[in-house]
Amino acid sequence: MKLVIASGNAKKRSEIERITCRLDIDVVPLEQTVFVEVIENGHTFAENAAKKARAFARANNCAALADDSGLCVDALAGAPGVMSARYAGENATDEANVSKLLAAMKGMQQRSACFHCCMHLALPDGKPLIETSGKVYGEILEHPRGNHGFGYDPVFYCPELGKTFAEATPEEKDRHSHRGRALRALADELTRLFPHS
Ligand code: IMP
Repeated sequence: MKLVIASGNAKKRSEIERITCRLDIDVVPLEQTVFVEVIENGHTFAENAAKKARAFARANNCAALADDSGLCVDALAGAPGVMSARYAGENATDEANVSKLLAAMKGMQQRSACFHCCMHLALPDGKPLIETSGKVYGEILEHPRGNHGFGYDPVFYCPELGKTFAEATPEEKDRHSHRGRALRALADELTRLFPHS
């Protein structure tokens, strides 16, 4: 199966490609992908993932895989949630988003949080083929730790790993992350739908 990834985020793409490369899937390279501006105004990760996958599938006339993901902090009533990428403003850097989060949580004892990821695979005509999701629970640290990964990884402590996602190797993160879990569910579903592929 040939597909485009509906994202220009290099780190997100490489996490997706680390898992799709083990399947019979040809990912269209970034430079051959027709990009469309998708306004991510859905109220849920699932809505935004569907919107991105549909738009990229139609524009590229090819199956498209979109991921919409984010961090939900219990003490902040689920924020930043679907606003994770834009928490500190439009085109905010990862550092700005992390600083805003740490400022919002200053002095808080209750630091539980969850990363969510919804994957949506749309057919070339935009119709949905597979939707999966993955979650991972953890704690928000008071100070960043580690240099790997992206986004909120340096402040997300994963108890199953005993370290932050930014301290984990890419393989360790894939094994436990919301994206790894959603992608493995997607792979299972693809294998079920296309048993000989
Ligand atoms: P999206 O491109 O709208 O799905 O934005 C997702 C945003 O959520 C990213 O820009 C990050 O801020 C955050 N995020 C999602 N997944 C991860 C992850 O695996 N690690 C750290 N931050 C993440």
